[in-house]
Amino acid sequence: MPPHSAPRREGKPGRARPPLERSRMSTPARPANRHHKRPRGEGQWALGYREPLNKNEENKKNDDGLNVRQRIIDVYSKRGFDSIDPADLRGRMRWYGLYTQRKPGIDGGKTAILEPEELDDRYFMLRIRIDGGQLDLNQLRVIAGISNDFGRGTADITDRQNVQLHWVEIESVPEIWERLEAVGLSTTEACGDTPRVILGCPLAGVDADEVIDGREQIREVYDRFIGDKAFSNLPRKFKSAISGCAAHCTVHEINDVAFVGVVNEAGEAGFDVWVGGGLSTNPMIGKRLGAFVRPDQVADVYGGVIGIFRDYGYRRLRHRARIKFLVNDWGAEKFRQILQDEYLGHALPDGPAPALADDTRRDHVGVRRQRDGKFYVGFAPKVGRVDGDTLAKIADLAEAHGSNRVAMTVEQKMVILDVPEERVESLVDGLDAIGLKVRPSTFRRQTMACTGIEYCKLAIVETKATATTLIHELENRLPDFEHPLTINVNGCPNSCARIQVADIGLKGQLVVDEKGEQVEGFQIHLGGSLGATPGFGRKVRGLKTTAEDLPDYVERVASNYAKQRSDDESFAA
Ligand code: SF4
Repeated sequence: MPPHSAPRREGKPGRARPPLERSRMSTPARPANRHHKRPRGEGQWALGYREPLNKNEENKKNDDGLNVRQRIIDVYSKRGFDSIDPADLRGRMRWYGLYTQRKPGIDGGKTAILEPEELDDRYFMLRIRIDGGQLDLNQLRVIAGISNDFGRGTADITDRQNVQLHWVEIESVPEIWERLEAVGLSTTEACGDTPRVILGCPLAGVDADEVIDGREQIREVYDRFIGDKAFSNLPRKFKSAISGCAAHCTVHEINDVAFVGVVNEAGEAGFDVWVGGGLSTNPMIGKRLGAFVRPDQVADVYGGVIGIFRDYGYRRLRHRARIKFLVNDWGAEKFRQILQDEYLGHALPDGPAPALADDTRRDHVGVRRQRDGKFYVGFAPKVGRVDGDTLAKIADLAEAHGSNRVAMTVEQKMVILDVPEERVESLVDGLDAIGLKVRPSTFRRQTMACTGIEYCKLAIVETKATATTLIHELENRLPDFEHPLTINVNGCPNSCARIQVADIGLKGQLVVDEKGEQVEGFQIHLGGSLGATPGFGRKVRGLKTTAEDLPDYVERVASNYAKQRSDDESFAA
């Protein structure tokens, strides 16, 4: 098969949104020239490495991840957990947002030494993608109902605008899909080596400072590329953002591709393209291509970028398979040239860089007037953890106060949109009564935590409860602290909670306590930031804390920062 011959598209399982009018080019143009000089041996399809070079690639070649949907409906949901083919269980199920969750009671010391099947519980985490982050109240109520009926009431808002449920049984999955798809939601490609949820500003279309509303571009990208077998076997996961938010709330710097709202010299609003950002064990800030993309070109450019990733991305080693490694080797200039020459078939004009934004508060928490005169009300669930009943109450409160829309932020928080001015304070009180603060402490507002050992098979330590305890302790000990300070808590060396770009990043690991015993703890990264002066937190050699001592440690750091900072000086400065 020639390098760019993708499998034939066979429809889009799980696609629930009505298709927008498609552009003529449903997949990117094929490269005319594949003779670029590049290092050999990385498993790039475009260099002829079509034979799988590792187990993951072999599984993907054996059967497309999207094909597991029909087996779940026809076989696994009827015959039960034990009927699931192991290659589906630990691989292809992810193409529909399904991961087996961690078997309870296995401590973090065993994470690396047990076989995957020893860590597997018989229940699943299910990730629901919310592209662009906005939901109508009917959609929110459907998620709440699924949580209560099939997920023991669990619901976590992630830092990528997904909602994750736990305790899901395979028998329930077809009905869950039916309910989601009936309201235009889906789990298709919520995980796996695929184009995952597309981040968007929760205030898109209403924010008074918005540069451009990116919702139509998100819908078009979703309709053209999600569930398309031409792009369902990427070298690894692919994270994207499309937003015209002036506060840059979708953290474009650390996405695989990001379209950032700008206005060019002619006064035309469009997008600046960034590629190759990402965190985890080799964090990199994305690079600007320096090209101006008109709104009607976004989907084509998105398709070109995932086409490059599919064809030229490194497939030999999983830890080098993200697009950031390719971008780092090529540089932005070469990447843009290949995008233009081989995938778009035309040049893109140069364009401006986005205006720099303050990094300290990108979260849209609080009350603010929209451009139509109504208000949005952003509030802070603790580290994204809510439940089915709470989501239903949020829907009821929003409706009772004249709103029909909510949105998820990329900071594990939520916003209710379109609230008439005279009903704002009543809504604030109603949210407060169910523990959701619109004017939260810095600690409640700016602490995030990943899933951690409660459910995640890669975790070494507990995170959500630890971070919740930390918030409570800091609120009690430092009640007057009001400076911006981000605290991100991770359960392992991956970076699902973005530890490297937090003021205080906490990487879960086992540490030795005063008695010489191994206990849960964290390695500390200090001073990470995005925005005008991006940089990754510094890992101070030997700087670790036990989970028990974490509140003492953070209290000391926060107090010293409050005492020593000069006016407006950020933590990272
Ligand atoms: Fe799991 Fe590690 Fe990601 Fe946390 S950072 S959710 S522990 S993989």
